[in-house]
Amino acid sequence: MSRKVHSGEHGEFLALDLGGTNFRVLRVRVTDNGLQKVEMENQIYAIPEDIMQGSGTQLFDHIAGCLANFMDKLQIKDKKLPLGFTFSFPCIQTKLDESYLVSWTKGFKSRGVEGRDVVTLIRKAIQRRGDFDIDIVAMVNDTVATMMTCGYDDQNCEIGLIVGMGSNACYMEEMRHIDMVEGDEGRMCINMEWGAFGDDGTLDDIRTEFDKEIDMGSLNPGQQLLILVKMAKEELLFRGNLSPELLATGRFETKDVSEIEGDKDGIQKAREVLVRLGMDPTQEDCVATHRICQIVSTRSASLCAATLAAVLQRIKENKGEERLRSTIGVDGSVYKKHPHFAKRLQKTVRRLVPNCDIRFLCSEDGSGKGAAMVTAVAYRLAYQHRARLKTLEPLKLSHEQLLEVKRRMKVEMERGLSKETHASAPVKMLPTYVCATPDGTEKGDFLALDLGGTNFRVLLVRVRNGKRRGVEMHNKIYSIPQDIMHGTGDELFDHIVQCIADFLEYMGMKGVSLPLGFTFSFPCQQNRLDESILLKWTKGFKASGCEGEDVVTLLKEAIHRREEFDLDVVAVVNDTVGTMMTCGYEDPHCEVGLIVGTGSNACYMEEMRNVELVEGEEGRMCVNTEWGAFGDNGCLDDFCTEFDVAVDELSLNPGKQRFEKMMSGMYLGEIVRNILIDFTKRGLLFRGRISERLKTRGIFETKFLSQIESDCLALQQVRAILQHLGLESTCDDSIIVKEVCTVVAQRAAQLCGAGMAAVVDKIRENRGLDTLKVTVGVDGTLYKLHPHFAKVMRETVKDLAPKCDVSFLESEDGSGKGAALITAVACRIREAGQR
Ligand code: ADP
Ligand code: MG
Repeated sequence: MSRKVHSGEHGEFLALDLGGTNFRVLRVRVTDNGLQKVEMENQIYAIPEDIMQGSGTQLFDHIAGCLANFMDKLQIKDKKLPLGFTFSFPCIQTKLDESYLVSWTKGFKSRGVEGRDVVTLIRKAIQRRGDFDIDIVAMVNDTVATMMTCGYDDQNCEIGLIVGMGSNACYMEEMRHIDMVEGDEGRMCINMEWGAFGDDGTLDDIRTEFDKEIDMGSLNPGQQLLILVKMAKEELLFRGNLSPELLATGRFETKDVSEIEGDKDGIQKAREVLVRLGMDPTQEDCVATHRICQIVSTRSASLCAATLAAVLQRIKENKGEERLRSTIGVDGSVYKKHPHFAKRLQKTVRRLVPNCDIRFLCSEDGSGKGAAMVTAVAYRLAYQHRARLKTLEPLKLSHEQLLEVKRRMKVEMERGLSKETHASAPVKMLPTYVCATPDGTEKGDFLALDLGGTNFRVLLVRVRNGKRRGVEMHNKIYSIPQDIMHGTGDELFDHIVQCIADFLEYMGMKGVSLPLGFTFSFPCQQNRLDESILLKWTKGFKASGCEGEDVVTLLKEAIHRREEFDLDVVAVVNDTVGTMMTCGYEDPHCEVGLIVGTGSNACYMEEMRNVELVEGEEGRMCVNTEWGAFGDNGCLDDFCTEFDVAVDELSLNPGKQRFEKMMSGMYLGEIVRNILIDFTKRGLLFRGRISERLKTRGIFETKFLSQIESDCLALQQVRAILQHLGLESTCDDSIIVKEVCTVVAQRAAQLCGAGMAAVVDKIRENRGLDTLKVTVGVDGTLYKLHPHFAKVMRETVKDLAPKCDVSFLESEDGSGKGAALITAVACRIREAGQR
């Protein structure tokens, strides 16, 4: 499959910037040919005073007109380009492309806009014209735009700050702290609108009379001027004289403050400014003006720094990091042009939050470029989100699909049972010669072997009857090295006998001969309880010369080769049967055994008349379904995804155990890993970078699926797990990985449920019952430890087999205990027969 490799943002975008000094229309082109490059063209358009104060319709018609003019000039009117709108007024944003103006600021007064969605207004204006079309993707504030622009160069940028005509900031807040928006995962940018800080009086104790007067008088921050006026009025300056220019609001500009503070001879500069404003200042007047400028701008920087420090502290606590590394994207003429403002601000912030490494990054035209950046990002995220959903779609099975899986399972089970079709049927439905469950009178000491799971174990099992009825076990785990798993059969069985000898010695029972039950969890054809012909290895085993052989004979030969002890091999059982027997010891309704561990398989009590491979019509026999092979004839191909195919192709037994490979512990992690690789290759994850680790087969163990999906786990911990796997992830990556794990595990549990629904419904139909009450004995680490598997599976069974009342009972070491119990039952029956 070839797909275009996609990384980063690229394309052509339009942007509008309203709410700064100028209204502008921009075109931004982002190229991504190795070197990311941003090109911009922009045009400033005037907004006449009468339009600023007129109706909303007039304003938005004007904006649409400017846009049309700009597109005409660039000859792009026929393209429907994505547009980002930097709209720097307080808004309540409900979506990326829906934003309600709270109130006009900065001199705007257009009627009928407050309380309305600005995106709708501009869309309507464009429709009224009808000469071009655009796709308004994102509305942003200038602070957000600044943060985004800087974020393009520095991934740590999570705060945007504007100190210009107005002052405001935004930062990335945890979703779980944002009550107004649904969802708890990830982060969202919050526009603080901190300009309104103190509007409820919280700051009154530090506001001066000048601050209050500015509030009342003008739209412009002419702070500096007011102090001068006040002092003049009190005859502290200018001998009490005031020129009309000084009295006129806004004539003493912030630019002047910058110049006075910036000039080597600030006092001389103050004189020039004052003279320009029609004053005739004395030397003391100039010194005082110079000093007032310093005080006012220092205070402004300090206030700004204090608020920023609070934001940084909050981000640091959100992240729970000891030291925070963070970047603040900044724009605005005060910050950029004032000779000391930036320095003072930075110094104060660093002093207030000493345990943070803060970088201040000046944005280059944040509001213009930023809107385009946000648009580009939104475009990419939407595209990526869609792409991921589309990929995961085939893994999400509907009720109808699951019913179909159940139906096909039933068909395959019947083909396995029937003599005619058995040979070609993948679901083998193997007779086990287990026909009775424990009745509680069994007793004695038994040895058991458990092969075919994660570990090889030897066990001593004591079964007691009567008052002290119960089972007591001792066991020892032995490893089977890979070279023995893949060596010869003789080597494998010699190793097993060696382990038995070690165990007997360890238990102080050297030379004792006990009845032995062998849990051998591979598909076998049994002709008697104590004869079992291996049909094929599964779950990573490959030892040569075993397939087609009786494993009891192989074991006995190895015991004879060693010439040290003898054993009476009474029963060979499958782990599913062992599990059913163990649970049956506690619950007489238990007539089904299920394993969801390394592999997946099930057994159940079938009517003898349906077990065509074995003579006899009376009673029941436990049938080992070997349902892992369901689909090996292609009957599940329409449910298989490309990832299932990839996992299968790379496995030791390609084409085999197709059902098992979609749902058991040995493969789930691999499915997840293959999806992650696909996402990464397509730039949808891990910033498109494939690590060596991710390419390593088997790194993504199924236990990580359990951990990642664990409900109490914060995203931060998901990141830690990924990091442990050598995968550097962002917050968004963690959400995606978690989603993939959920989808894969959910499908596994549902498929397992669909198979189980087929089994219990078959039992019910066999017996001609309207309703069946039955217990399923279950074992396997995936079932037991995954946080959602059991629940999803139970729900699926209920959904697909509503006429069955199914309980699930977890077996405690079914494979080990079960083999001994079957041996005990067999010995009981044998002894009864001998009597
Ligand atoms: P077996 O089936 O081999 O007898 P288990 O029932 O212990 O043994 O299953 C082992 C399988 O369970 C392995 O494939 C392993 O990946 C998986 N596993 C281990 N730990 C967990 C866990 N915490 N959650 C889900 N699966 C797990
Ligand atoms: Mg097991």
